Amino acid sequence: IRRIVLASRPTGQPEAGNFRIENFELPEAAEGEVTLRCLYLSLDPYMRGRMSDAKSYAAPVPIDGVMEGETICEVVKSRHTAFSPGDIVRARTGWTTNAVVHGDTLTRVETHGAPLTTALGVLGMPGSTAWSGMKFIGKPKQGETVVVAAASGPVGSLVGQLAKLAGARAVGIAGGPDKCAYVKDGLGFDAVVDHRSQDFASDLAAACPDGVDVYFENVGGHVWDAVLPLLNQFARVPVCGLVAHYNGAGSADTDRLPITMSAVLRRSLLIRGFIQTEFISHFGDFLDEVGPRVASGDIKYREDIVDGLERAPEDFIGMLTGGNFGKLIVKIAD
Ligand code: NDP
Repeated sequence: IRRIVLASRPTGQPEAGNFRIENFELPEAAEGEVTLRCLYLSLDPYMRGRMSDAKSYAAPVPIDGVMEGETICEVVKSRHTAFSPGDIVRARTGWTTNAVVHGDTLTRVETHGAPLTTALGVLGMPGSTAWSGMKFIGKPKQGETVVVAAASGPVGSLVGQLAKLAGARAVGIAGGPDKCAYVKDGLGFDAVVDHRSQDFASDLAAACPDGVDVYFENVGGHVWDAVLPLLNQFARVPVCGLVAHYNGAGSADTDRLPITMSAVLRRSLLIRGFIQTEFISHFGDFLDEVGPRVASGDIKYREDIVDGLERAPEDFIGMLTGGNFGKLIVKIAD
């Protein structure tokens, strides 16, 4: 029975020494509680924010606290009326092999027959993020151009496929030839551009001859710089994530405020940030719409599953600079 705790706060890129793996004793479940065996842990970019004590939309993980995270678990013992041993649930146990939590915090896993791991990716938090950002903010229309970066990941891959379903043109941005080939040939985007290329900005302009109507912002940094001049009048920008800045890069190099605000004004841009929980009451609608398409294979997804809780720190660190290829999940137990 092991867990991974935050040993110290990183400055810049996290290092292995910011984490500590430790053995612990599992308490007995009290009335209303459930004892869980964790099967899969989701690793997500937002966890970088929880390692820092800067003010944000959620509280930081305390030093020596268990790293936060969502897991798929099997119920081992239950003192809650809604759950029985053998049930498979989604829980916020953090980075741990076992846990005791209150039954009210659990939800049953529903994947419409798709594999269990999809409940952490395309049919879980990242999938619902893509769906909500597109449905409530991006609102792509027939014939429009939608651009998204981190396009092989769980959020970006669904953004592009939802754009196609709405009759729009999907242009993906990804790092390196393998990810780019997958985005175009595997996911069916209309075009893909490699953000690591020297000619990235001109390649992107060439891939968007009619400009950009929806830019689903996942990364910030040099990708935003290349997209801004291409945004059409009345373009929508759901601001979902800024992974290029999570390790602290690019905060003070140039003042982009004048150029950004002048584009917002002259081209009547809508730039709207959101956190997935804002739209949580629509999670059922998301599952009903996307779940059957994932189960039938109409909507594609890719998972990067690594084995063993002890792998979590190094794979999480790698994800922040593109080391993952697909939704990053740690398999903890069979
Ligand atoms: P991914 O699995 O796609 O992993 C992150 C990817 O970001 C990397 O694989 C890499 O892809 C890309 N990346 C990293 N650094 C850079 C950079 N400097 N420039 C360009 N691309 C970079 O992550 P998710 O799909 O889980 O998340 C995507 C975004 O959505 C993140 O910003 C995340 O924080 C955000 N998010 C926001 C939520 C919300 O509620 N607002 C909820 C869930 C996610 P590549 O190698 O292709 O460059």
